[in-house]
Formats: sequence, structure tokens, C-alpha cells
Amino acid sequence: MEEVERCEECGKVLKDKSYEPYCKQCDEKLDKQFDGIEDNILIYRELLDSEIKVLEKFEDTDIKDLFKRVYEKLSREEGGLKKESIVVLNKLKRSFSLKESELGIGKLPEIKEIKKSKPKDQCPECDKKIKEDFNLCPYCGYRLKDDFVSKF
Ligand SMILES: [Zn+2]
Ligand SMILES: [Zn+2]
Repeated sequence: MEEVERCEECGKVLKDKSYEPYCKQCDEKLDKQFDGIEDNILIYRELLDSEIKVLEKFEDTDIKDLFKRVYEKLSREEGGLKKESIVVLNKLKRSFSLKESELGIGKLPEIKEIKKSKPKDQCPECDKKIKEDFNLCPYCGYRLKDDFVSKF
């Protein structure tokens, strides 16, 4: 049996393979979402978990290019990289295990999150409900206590 290739997004049979692994419509839709995500990073310094899921559908090189573009633009702001920018860049970097050396940039300071005083029973990283005495978030592994050293 001949293998039928389907769009990874909507499952339609791919007649036109030039947008592989997606159909033309889905490819265009994803590109639009990609641009929206870029804007969200640049304008609102925000990268939502749902956006990361969308980005996961793209190639590594697309993500690296995205990183370089937003990094460059955010660096050109008056006064250089702002804290919020570093946080969002770090999030992008961590989510896709990017390395500064591959990106051709200097080491980013380790600012993970600007602590907005969230309730103590909420993980500052993934917002899930947690117990106050947890050392690590059971959902995302975020280190909740600074003095906690993982034994693993
Ligand atoms: Zn499709
Ligand atoms: Zn968490």
C-alpha cells in the first residue's frame, strides 16, 4: 500500500507537498501564529505556555532565528535589555534548550521570573496549585525554595 501523507495539523491528505508536513492552509495559519507570538514577545514580553506548544511545531532553526530576532530588537531598547525582556528570552531559551553559544550571544543573566507576589500555594512558574512546603513543583520541576539542593 502506498503511504499517504497527511497534514500533521488537520489530517488532510497532502496533495501539494511543498508545505510539508502541513497543508498550505495550516502552514499559513501556523505562520500567522508564529508572527503573533513574536509580537507578543516584543510588545508584551510575554511567552505563554500555549504559545510554546505552537512553537514546538516549528523547526529548531526557526526557533533560533526567532530568538535572535527578538534578542536583537529587545537589546536595542533604550537602556539595553530590560529585566522583563531577559525573563522572556530565558523562557524561550529554556523551553527549547537553546544555548548562548549556538545563538551567538553573550550569557544571559539568570533572571527567571520577576516575582509578582503570587499566592504561596501557587507555583510561580506554571501557576498550578501546590503545597506551601514543597521544595520542587511536582508539575514543572520549578525550584520553589532557594536553599533546596536536589539530591538527584
Ligand atoms: Zn492541514
Ligand atoms: Zn510548577
